[in-house]
Amino acid sequence: MIHATRIYSGIAEIATLSRGPVPRIAEAMSELGRIEDGAIAVDRGRIAWVGPRRRSRREIRLRAGGNVVELHGASVVPGFVDAHTHALFAGDRSNEIALKLAGKSYTEILAGGGGILSTVRATRAASTATLRSEARGRLGRMLRSGTTAAEVKSGYSLDHEGELRLLRLVPALARASGVRMVATFLGAHAVPPEFEGHTDAYIDQIVRRTLPIVARERLARFCDVFCEPGFFSVAQSERLLRAALGFGLGAKIHADEFVYSGGARLASSLHARSAEHLLLTPSDDRQALAASGVTAVLLPVTPFALFAGTRSPGREMVDARVPVALGTDLSPNSEVESMTTVLAHAVYSARLTPAEAITAATVNAAHASDLSAEAGTIAVGRPADFVAFDVPSVERIPVRIGSIPTLISRQGIPVASR
Ligand code: ZN
Repeated sequence: MIHATRIYSGIAEIATLSRGPVPRIAEAMSELGRIEDGAIAVDRGRIAWVGPRRRSRREIRLRAGGNVVELHGASVVPGFVDAHTHALFAGDRSNEIALKLAGKSYTEILAGGGGILSTVRATRAASTATLRSEARGRLGRMLRSGTTAAEVKSGYSLDHEGELRLLRLVPALARASGVRMVATFLGAHAVPPEFEGHTDAYIDQIVRRTLPIVARERLARFCDVFCEPGFFSVAQSERLLRAALGFGLGAKIHADEFVYSGGARLASSLHARSAEHLLLTPSDDRQALAASGVTAVLLPVTPFALFAGTRSPGREMVDARVPVALGTDLSPNSEVESMTTVLAHAVYSARLTPAEAITAATVNAAHASDLSAEAGTIAVGRPADFVAFDVPSVERIPVRIGSIPTLISRQGIPVASR
């Protein structure tokens, strides 16, 4: 007999994602580990039992004071893992919408002193309390839309102390928000104004000065770099990521977003954990990602928010047998906090099937974020982080554009709606 403090019952369909390889590729991305007419029992914040409801009555005993939560035919998936966010920033750039509508590109807006450099000015000028409270607001909204774990990147201070300040906010933000967080050091998000024309010297500063502290104080699990012409070259990106790997950090790379950069190919040669964006990654480089097992973190809302007129190559990546994960790319440039919005774009724009999109937003996103032991599946012994939606099957979640959860369980406890 299994003891539980709470039983969630009356679930039309559960996608457990609990069996199969991690990360999933190709056909395995469609295997959701479904249970129909199911129940989930929770004990001390972890999943104690998951299975068909008819077996739950004889296999589970409620502890004194425990209760049953009836979900009235909702469907349940693991809490979403947002594999790519830039949630640590101050200021806003909504004024740039008019520039974008007038045809200015990200790179042109940047050249005019706007874009990321305006966020860098605002972030450097913001007090730590302001940075903390703004990020806390974002994480709260992410949680209430079903995200229970997220990767978060630094990268809006672009100076030694400022980047460390951003990373040092992460543990307290995770505790305060209830969102499980993994930090990524993205000091090489852009070249700061002080180093304009001296990109190698900036990489030098990161490698010699900042990275050793990030590693020693365990401020980040990953190091990332914005590998695009005009930002950091393949050679500069390689130098930085090799140094990060030497310090025991994992490697991630922003690649092939605005133009083909060769960043995906570099990720393959370094066996990086992930290559991200990949809007313009050609077929040969998709093959290279597949061969080296690098996860493609796709951000299908970003081209939409940038008026880019391109689409995230979800279908092409799955067909090339690349493991695909999803993220919001939450930033002042694409202010999306909701993974259900990402799921809809993953289907209607990136052309994943609904089942593939769910896999990409859970078990594969957990892998990309090094959170597989704690997130992305509904399995006995794992934290009881899951989300219910008022739909008869899990595949309806991405189909209903911008689905709103009816219940979010964070370690077995329902998250308050506000
Ligand atoms: Zn990004």
